[in-house]
Amino acid sequence: MFRRFLAYYGPQKHLFIADTVCALVIAGIDLAFPSILRSLTGGLFTEGPSAIMASLGMIAAGLVAMYLVRCACRYFVSAQGHIMGARMESKMRQDLFDQYERFSFSYFDRVNSGDMMSRVVNDLFDICEAAHHVPEWIIICGVEIVGAFVILFTISPVLAGVMAAVTALFVVVMVRQNFRMRAVYTDNRLKISGVNSQLQDSLAGMRVVKSFANEETERAKFRRSNDRYLDSKEAMYRVMGTYQATSALMTGVLFTIIVVLGGYLVAQGQMTAVDMATFALYISLFTTPIETLVNSTETFQKAIAGFRRMDEVLMSTPDVLDKPDARPLEVSAGAIEYRDVCFTYEDREIGADRRAGVERPVIDHLSLSIRPGETIALVGPSGGGKSTTCSLLPRFYDVQSGSITIDGQDVRDVTQESLRRAIGLVQQDVYLFDGTIRENIAYGRPGATNDEIAQAARRANIHDFIESLEDGYDTVVGERGGRLSGGQKQRIAIARVFLKDPKILILDEATSALDNESEEAVQESLERLAADRTTIIIAHRLSTIKGADEIATVEHGQVVERGTHEELLARGGTYARYYRMQFEGVRARELDE
Ligand code: ADP
Repeated sequence: MFRRFLAYYGPQKHLFIADTVCALVIAGIDLAFPSILRSLTGGLFTEGPSAIMASLGMIAAGLVAMYLVRCACRYFVSAQGHIMGARMESKMRQDLFDQYERFSFSYFDRVNSGDMMSRVVNDLFDICEAAHHVPEWIIICGVEIVGAFVILFTISPVLAGVMAAVTALFVVVMVRQNFRMRAVYTDNRLKISGVNSQLQDSLAGMRVVKSFANEETERAKFRRSNDRYLDSKEAMYRVMGTYQATSALMTGVLFTIIVVLGGYLVAQGQMTAVDMATFALYISLFTTPIETLVNSTETFQKAIAGFRRMDEVLMSTPDVLDKPDARPLEVSAGAIEYRDVCFTYEDREIGADRRAGVERPVIDHLSLSIRPGETIALVGPSGGGKSTTCSLLPRFYDVQSGSITIDGQDVRDVTQESLRRAIGLVQQDVYLFDGTIRENIAYGRPGATNDEIAQAARRANIHDFIESLEDGYDTVVGERGGRLSGGQKQRIAIARVFLKDPKILILDEATSALDNESEEAVQESLERLAADRTTIIIAHRLSTIKGADEIATVEHGQVVERGTHEELLARGGTYARYYRMQFEGVRARELDE
């Protein structure tokens, strides 16, 4: 994991080297200052004021030059160091996003979006704070601490030795405290992800929350996550407080030693008063860096926790992958063949049918062949496996056994891109991006001309409506298309698929959420869309089945019967039973209206 982290420094190596050199210069200058002061004040006693006066001008010029160099280096370390961190953060963010795009549906079934957001936003910030600050701190502070001790040892080995021993003792205590920090920070990350998920869930489901008047329940749920985060933060600050107090105690103890032991050594004639003052000057040169290093461990712990979470994402392999020798799918006629397909969702708790104590796969040895250009409707009880059957075709999930072929090509042997370009999907729950109507339709085929977009809209029965809007095709649809009705969103989604012009079509209960009037307009455009394409319809309503050439009943993950509406009714099997139960009531209601 550490090597993978270091790899992000690779493209920034020039900046990193320059940053390191500047950090070293700063440390060197900081170390030199007390020594210069010492020789100046020492000279006061040995050479007399006149000699000092003579060299003061040169010393002043030297000091000004030194501090100008220090200023320039500080600027570089601050500005370029942060820039280096920001570039690494940007690369990590892109890598993480690219990886999310690579994952298949099973990943998104498992991981919630608040958690994903938290990894992209909070974790990366922490990682990159550490990426540029920690090396800089280690160099500046390390050189200052070691350098200060070397100089102090040359002045008084006894005093320096005692101070080194005491400092080492404190460092051991602090390192032990660090181990506790790691657990606290990891917990902290988990808790903030919990808050993010809760927030995301409640905001996304606001309509449901309000319609059930469940604001209080949501508030209570949020309060619980928020309180847990607060508890975790309080624990974190307590651990941090202990750190800071330990470091303050160390400074106090060291100063006391200088005054008491130093005073004793001066009294014994083993050290001069100037030396003792130099010790006092140097003390801040290593206590401040030790404090900084203590603080950097906080940043470092957060970064390790963050990078571990990021690495976990980057290292997981998507379960639907292109084979190395995958070829583009070539659809000639559009024949589809499911052969003895079995499939169960990873999350078996929900996915498996546990009736009668037997765990059955969600799709259980299903075979189904669909002729080119045919429209087939899948009907059957809810949870029977209709949607799952359709999800397997574009490889949203991979079959566990058996095969699915399109014009004789196994879907696992072709590239996912070509496969998904060949299949159009219209779902009940339409997702529009927050952009203009034009952009949303053009999503079906990036680069489409305005004429092509308008043509697609015309075929989807939505052109006139769009033209009637003040901004026409440039109307912004709002987040998730919030400014449009269900039927309008659905027709924009259909226009998108017209533009994509796939050979194969999946209509997943596309009209079931619409009122009668919208349904008619949508139904008409859907029929136009389905003409000349191999189409699978997941049907829950009688009206959807009417346009189908054939019907297949899917129950317990199997096709139990198949035929035309009349044939199946005459057979008196599952479909006939299902039809009477589900649809005759509907038809009776429709006739009544
Ligand atoms: P249908 O479309 O016929 O209503 P589905 O294909 O949606 O049926 O569901 C078949 C079974 O798979 C159900 O038991 C359902 O609970 C389960 N299921 C559907 N989607 C998932 C999922 N993403 N993860 C786990 N189980 C799922």
